[in-house]
Amino acid sequence: MPDPSSVAALKGVGPKLADRLLRLGIRTIVDVLLHLPLRYQDRTRLTPVGRLQPGAEAQIEAEVVGSEVTSRGRRFLLCHLADGTGVLTLRFFHFSPGQQQLLGQTGARLRCFGEVRQGYAGLEMIHPECRRISSDEPPAAACLTPFYPATAGLQQFTLRSLVEQALGCLDQAALLPELLPPAVLAQLQLPPIAEAVRLLHRPPAATALAELDSGRHPAQRRLAFEELLAHQLSLRRLRQRMKQHIAPPLAGNGGLTQRFLERLPFVLTAAQQRVLDEIAADLAQPRPMLRLLQGDVGSGKTVVAALAAIRAVETGAQTALMAPTELLAEQHYRNFNGWFSALGIEVAWLTGRLTGKARRMALDRLASGQIQVVVGTHALFQEHVAFAELALAIIDEQHRFGVHQRLALREKGRQGRGHPHQLIMTATPIPRTLAMSAYADLDTSVIDELPPGRQPVQTVAIPDSRRDEVIARIRQACRSGRQAYWVCPLIEESEALQCQAAAVTAERLTEILPELRIGLAHGRLPAATKETVMRLFTAGQLDLLVATTVIEVGVDVPNASLMIIENAERLGLAQLHQLRGRVGRGALASSCVLLYRPPLSQVAHNRLAALRECHDGFEIARRDLELRGPGEVLGARQSGEQILRVADLLRDQALLPTARQVADELLHTRPDCVEPLIRRWIGAGARYGEV
Ligand code: ADP
Ligand code: MG
Repeated sequence: MPDPSSVAALKGVGPKLADRLLRLGIRTIVDVLLHLPLRYQDRTRLTPVGRLQPGAEAQIEAEVVGSEVTSRGRRFLLCHLADGTGVLTLRFFHFSPGQQQLLGQTGARLRCFGEVRQGYAGLEMIHPECRRISSDEPPAAACLTPFYPATAGLQQFTLRSLVEQALGCLDQAALLPELLPPAVLAQLQLPPIAEAVRLLHRPPAATALAELDSGRHPAQRRLAFEELLAHQLSLRRLRQRMKQHIAPPLAGNGGLTQRFLERLPFVLTAAQQRVLDEIAADLAQPRPMLRLLQGDVGSGKTVVAALAAIRAVETGAQTALMAPTELLAEQHYRNFNGWFSALGIEVAWLTGRLTGKARRMALDRLASGQIQVVVGTHALFQEHVAFAELALAIIDEQHRFGVHQRLALREKGRQGRGHPHQLIMTATPIPRTLAMSAYADLDTSVIDELPPGRQPVQTVAIPDSRRDEVIARIRQACRSGRQAYWVCPLIEESEALQCQAAAVTAERLTEILPELRIGLAHGRLPAATKETVMRLFTAGQLDLLVATTVIEVGVDVPNASLMIIENAERLGLAQLHQLRGRVGRGALASSCVLLYRPPLSQVAHNRLAALRECHDGFEIARRDLELRGPGEVLGARQSGEQILRVADLLRDQALLPTARQVADELLHTRPDCVEPLIRRWIGAGARYGEV
């Protein structure tokens, strides 16, 4: 007995077709109904030939008044048509003798659909869809003709007929029950779901095609809203479940915090203080904190993380700080150790590279609780690492980790007195709406202020041909005791070639600038070498660091005041902003040179201009979203997890705040709707609910 809700229950769907449908994510009849057309054609009306416009698609009906096969250069068939309002030529490059006879017969009536072009001798259609008709055929289709996203071996024709059947089922069975409360529909002025689905598959002739094409028809908004709502629900429910767990309340007497702040060479900014208060309030609760910390590059997130860790230490519990790269883990370790050792707090370092006896020792001391703070990479959670009592997990540069990793981490962290509190820090600011969808399970804190005395990094774009000037700038900066970065980003597909490019650049610069101490850092160097180089640079014992984008996130050397980015035209806005953020981290006036290879494409030009004009990471993120779309902005991993079928985060962002609000309402007032909504839209792929 086949599952009645499965596509296999539709006529004509055998294993082979089912397989192809699966490639489009279609498993059930409901999936067929939610597989919406990409675009439509208007075959509901006939356009008089005299009113055809070049560039537009149109359907015409006309009589063949003559035809010829020409062979000037290439052989083709020309059919001349007339309908009393004008004349039009059809042009075919491929045709069989049968077609030639069928289409070329003077006096035949043809109905054609195609794009109108301006030809040499008047308007033409090239290879239109065309058929002969008799005089008693109805004038045209009743609805706009849908075109569906398809895949190899799956024709529009097949999809249309499956949809036809599915729409039939929609009428008979309650396949798509209305799950949204009437008040919500009324408030948003959205149609009921069955009506929306029917309209989108079979839009009546009068439907505004332009509105459909832009994805802003109320029926489309209805489905987009419901999909966004389903995603919100799954993440909000996850949050609700997490919040039901117990966590150790972390509220010490503040003694260590006091001593930490007294030793700090600066005063927290008002924004840092505010964010810290938000975190402290969460940590004091017996429920796990789930908080996202956003702040622009250089806004001082690390010290906030350290202060959160101190809260845990004050109550005798452990903190783990996870960074996305070894390099960053190393730097955080150095920072934390510098701050904490004076306070008698034990900090350890644990990455995949720590092996043998040193590793065993670290693990033992972690398990016994001797180590209060551990810094590492994801190895911290992937491998069998036991904590005495992990109370706080801090994840730095979150955009490199996806929702799944976040979940895995929560699972691993469960031990002792409950679930650990979680603080997640993003390297790159994310536009509000994106954050709202990707991090719907988290509360958000924003550091919206830079430490005092920072000057905007003066940014210039210079063509490659003026390298000499750039080199002179480096010489000058280093002569006056500053340091500089020279970044060689990805120009080759392979990492090996990229590293080689950096090595070659370092060699050349060493020849040209023999008086400077130049270091090289890239992903292919032995870790120990890389660390030594970074340590020397941090300590001011190197003047110039030539590097690949390994230094993209987090590296903090306040004395560096000059950043050169080669092939800047190849990089995205957010990444450029990240790289630029390596300078301007102290009170020094800093600059960033974007070296590019002309000619610049329009997009690249806009990007470099945006970077020159704009210094606020949130504004840059907003522009980046417009330039690249949400998938790219969130990073491949995350977007891969967040595939939306109907909604478009950019186009539909105005719906998000309401979706969030309605999600929270439904979770309280209509829990019965929650599961069906999630199942409808996320279906078997609902991996969010597994906690
Ligand atoms: P990010 O938010 O990019 O991770 P960091 O935490 O690395 O930024 O901080 C950038 C630099 O600013 C560091 O050198 C840090 O010591 C310094 N810093 C942080 N907070 C302040 C502050 N309130 N006043 C002055 N300098 C600060
Ligand atoms: Mg950082």
